[in-house]
Amino acid sequence: MLDHRQPTRLANLWDASRTAGMSEPERLLYRSNLLGSDKRITNYGGGNTSAKVIQPDPLTGDEVEVLWVKGSGGDVGTIRMDGFATLYMDKLKALKALYRGVAHEDEMVAYLPHCTFDLNPRAASIDTPLHAYVPKPHVDHMHPDAIIAIAASADSKALTEKIFGSEIGWLPWKRPGYELGLWLEKFCMENPQARGVVLESHGLFTWGETAERCYETTIEIINRAIAWFEDSAAGPAFGGEKTKALPADRRRAVAARLMPVIRGLISGEERKIGHFDDSDTVLEFIDSNALEVLAPMGTSCPDHFLRTKIRPLMVDFDPATPDIDAAVTGLAESITAYRKDYEAYYERCKRPDSPAMRDPNAVVYLVPGVGMITFARDKATARISAEFYVNAINVMRGASSVSTYRGLPEQEAFDIEYWLLEEAKLQRMPRPKALAGKIALVTGGAGGIGMATARRLAADGACVVLADIDKTALAAANAELCEAFGKDVVRSVDLDVTSEEAVLAAFTDTAAEYGGLDILVSNAGISSAAPIDETELSLWNRNLGILATGYFLVSRQAFRLLKTQNTGGAIVFIASKNGLAASPNASAYCTAKAAEIHLARCLALEGAEFGIRVNTVNPDAVLRGSKIWTGEWREQRAAAYNMAPDELEEHYRKRSMLKLSVLPQDVAEAVYFFASDMAAKSTGNIVNVDAGNAQAFTR
Ligand SMILES: [Zn+2]
Repeated sequence: MLDHRQPTRLANLWDASRTAGMSEPERLLYRSNLLGSDKRITNYGGGNTSAKVIQPDPLTGDEVEVLWVKGSGGDVGTIRMDGFATLYMDKLKALKALYRGVAHEDEMVAYLPHCTFDLNPRAASIDTPLHAYVPKPHVDHMHPDAIIAIAASADSKALTEKIFGSEIGWLPWKRPGYELGLWLEKFCMENPQARGVVLESHGLFTWGETAERCYETTIEIINRAIAWFEDSAAGPAFGGEKTKALPADRRRAVAARLMPVIRGLISGEERKIGHFDDSDTVLEFIDSNALEVLAPMGTSCPDHFLRTKIRPLMVDFDPATPDIDAAVTGLAESITAYRKDYEAYYERCKRPDSPAMRDPNAVVYLVPGVGMITFARDKATARISAEFYVNAINVMRGASSVSTYRGLPEQEAFDIEYWLLEEAKLQRMPRPKALAGKIALVTGGAGGIGMATARRLAADGACVVLADIDKTALAAANAELCEAFGKDVVRSVDLDVTSEEAVLAAFTDTAAEYGGLDILVSNAGISSAAPIDETELSLWNRNLGILATGYFLVSRQAFRLLKTQNTGGAIVFIASKNGLAASPNASAYCTAKAAEIHLARCLALEGAEFGIRVNTVNPDAVLRGSKIWTGEWREQRAAAYNMAPDELEEHYRKRSMLKLSVLPQDVAEAVYFFASDMAAKSTGNIVNVDAGNAQAFTR
């Protein structure tokens, strides 16, 4: 069976009542979004769609034929109208006169902008000639797992014929580009009855007279492939189970141990973010008899290996006799071996004009009995790389069930990976933000300062884990940050910083979600007021528990994680002006805050040799958004100054030297400074963010 975990057949989702009043480009958009909504039809960012539309030329008013085709970048599932490139068909046809042959096909890409219709700024993709030269009004090019399973089989041509007869043709592997466009045109001319064509090691082309017919054909052909695999596969997938997976919580715990070590070993100039996937599809593959044969063969489809590298790294771990320490120790050796292999591959295949070797580290790490770990420059890329490897697993499952699975020949794979046009695309990518690839854990993350800090770090590219004891506020904060920065870069954990067990769990979660840690902002806090003779032991203990012990517990765990990773780190304590300056009737609070400040200094001393910097930010009277400044404490402070609670902020403003209110975002800026490389040479320091208070001057 190809994939027994979802309803196997694709549904025809075309709704004619919705498309009735649409223009042809709108119907193309509708069709594209429908196709892209199911990853079994095409993988993320893979595939493209087109329509040839007659419309008036903006300059002459003459009716001209325009190719609307998905432009460079983006995904058909989420594409909008501005994602399509538009080109004059007559000019695209005229390009044939300029074509000097396959050795020069890459130069044709530079002509595409000259064919632009209506000054459309969307760049045309490398696949444009494939759509232009298929002499049909509507064309879909998809990368369905079920078709690629045929395309990646040793006898892919014979299989295509067996399943589809003369309805669907077959073309041998050819890198997408101008030449493949001409092949497709020739195929259509010679096979007028064909409704599509399978491209070896690549995917599917289908076409139709109308947008709806084209869509129906695409769905029908993929469904036929799915059905055929269901009927033909003999025996269990991947030759049956070889090992049993560990229980889910153990899998996650093992991943959380391995990921920071891997991250430390592969993070050179660029920090990497991790992703862990132990879905049934992944476990079936990594626990199977066929793993050792199939995994080293590499992924078959260019789209797959551009994201996953050709081969995954196999982590030496036996779930039958699990020895996690041995697996951790073995990582350095296997990662070095992988890099050497990759360098050798580069040396074997490189051409005189090849771009310099890229990062030789693996993207995909398979851990038998545990799951798949991926690492990339950001979370979305790591997650998408994992999705692509799942596509590759589906392909290997299908191909190996009916035939012999075959990866792409090494040189072809290399030529795609180091294609100059791909290199140009990489060079055009925007420079990463200052905290890209960094992972931050913020305790008290749902409060005013915590949220402002998380926002500030995420705005500069960090992945942020919000930790808080207030579940309701945490859910709201999580939703707000996801909305602002996207779901990939925000996580939240329920955390009572005084519980050793909860602290361990929060760091395990952080490691399993993102692969490690770079920044800890210890911010969880409370406040209290009472004259010393009225201070109950429970109040004293509560202050010390959260502010001193809590800071100790999270710092200790951060140290353990950062030392495992061995790439330095930044710890920032949110203390208080009151840690430096005594304040009446708040001895428990002030003493605990002073303990925090001194703990930070001690940790700065211990962390230095590991590149771990520890600094303190002292806010004062940050009322807005603060959970501390609600209720009793606010009333107590107001009463102490003989005023109404809502007069407090103004009181503190006037009391400050600069006559300014201190806001959460002001504190966040100071945290950002210490957390970022701007403060790479600062440790053991204190910054007051209090609008000026002479009593708190450090000395
Ligand atoms: Zn393709």
